[in-house]
Amino acid sequence: MEIEIATIGGYEEVGRQMTAVRAGDDVVIFDMGLNLSQVLIHDNVETERMHSLDLIDMGAIPDDRVMSDLEGDVKAIVPTHGHLDHIGAISKLAHRYDAPIVASPFTIELVKQQIEGEQKFGVENDLVKMEAGETMSIGDRNELEFVNVTHSIIDAINPVLHTPEGAIVYGLDKRMDHTPVIGDPIDMERFREIGREGNGVLCYIEDCTNASKKGRTPSEKVAREHLRDVLYSVEDYDGGIVATTFSSHIARVKSLVEFADDIGRQPVLLGRSMEKYSGTAERLDFIDFPSDLGMFGHRKSVDRTFKRIMNEGKENYLPIVTGHQGEPRAMLTRMARGETPYELDDGDKVVFSARVIPEPTNEGQRYQAEKLLGMQGARVYDDIHVSGHLNQEGHYEMLDALQPQHVIPAHQDMSGFSSYVNLCESEGYKMGRDLHVTRNGNLIQLVD
Ligand SMILES: [Zn+2]
Repeated sequence: MEIEIATIGGYEEVGRQMTAVRAGDDVVIFDMGLNLSQVLIHDNVETERMHSLDLIDMGAIPDDRVMSDLEGDVKAIVPTHGHLDHIGAISKLAHRYDAPIVASPFTIELVKQQIEGEQKFGVENDLVKMEAGETMSIGDRNELEFVNVTHSIIDAINPVLHTPEGAIVYGLDKRMDHTPVIGDPIDMERFREIGREGNGVLCYIEDCTNASKKGRTPSEKVAREHLRDVLYSVEDYDGGIVATTFSSHIARVKSLVEFADDIGRQPVLLGRSMEKYSGTAERLDFIDFPSDLGMFGHRKSVDRTFKRIMNEGKENYLPIVTGHQGEPRAMLTRMARGETPYELDDGDKVVFSARVIPEPTNEGQRYQAEKLLGMQGARVYDDIHVSGHLNQEGHYEMLDALQPQHVIPAHQDMSGFSSYVNLCESEGYKMGRDLHVTRNGNLIQLVD
């Protein structure tokens, strides 16, 4: 059976991930993401109204024109998890394919919300839920399997396409977490089985984000204990404490909510995306928040909540807000600019349970937000976080478990691939033979 891989997006950047695998006549698309930085760099761009081709030209969504060179029928579009760089282009591109979108329950719900928010294209692809550990036939001879992985968002999976020539494992995005705060540990046992059974692994496509970092990415449990240490240490403070984190990081939000309660403060989630992700996770029973936990997204209800906090005393509350990257329109930045009824005083604590995404725009915005907070007297606790991506030893373990015949580095630009290439070459792979460093818009023929 002919096996071909189309590297469509995310091979020159972190963002707009999209890869297609053709096995005989069947094609499966993995991820269809948005490159947010290419959108945000233009002021006032309303992507909701833009045409696909214009979005492709600005580098915001994957350039899927290479798909016309793949001779087969798309049977499924499979996003791995709910981060926007993996699902954000579904509402702009999926309507071009007559295929269902197959994803884990939390991811499907986020995809549904994306599609509902889209104003230009009527995306009507079927939405099919599939849990980790389940499989689905793709055509007559191939099978799709979801393997449970751990990442900075719940319900993440790595899809595996089993073909007569061997398995294609799509490895974006994960860390090896044996003690995640929500959900099951990564299913390394299954990865090891897949590496041994049948024809083994024909190809592994890997997320190289942290390939230059030595050692192992710590578990979410480590970030949780770090957060506990910080919040317990300010238990006796009788002023304002504010926390911020990735709103899609439900495990972290859970820890913040629990520790707020432990130190005698009522947690409250503020900001549109806080309400969106936590509300969705609760509705789907991934988490059981205290019944009196407030979640407010709309400007008016947020301001009303801030007024209530100011009236009843800041020392009774712990607002958990958006804005960990200093995004200009996010809640924490508005608070820092004094645009909300919440007043910061000398000595108030601001807890960033996040790391600055190393990109000049983020670094600049975050610097500004911290400066503004400091000008109001706030004390900043930074970097209470663990990454969602594998470091070097995790990458080594995956290669060891899967023993893939071919490897394709992804989810980075060329300089980001280099450490992973070095690791693979030290494991006996060779560039141009079985290690395929590539760019967006290429086809790699693995079996002809
Ligand atoms: Zn991700």
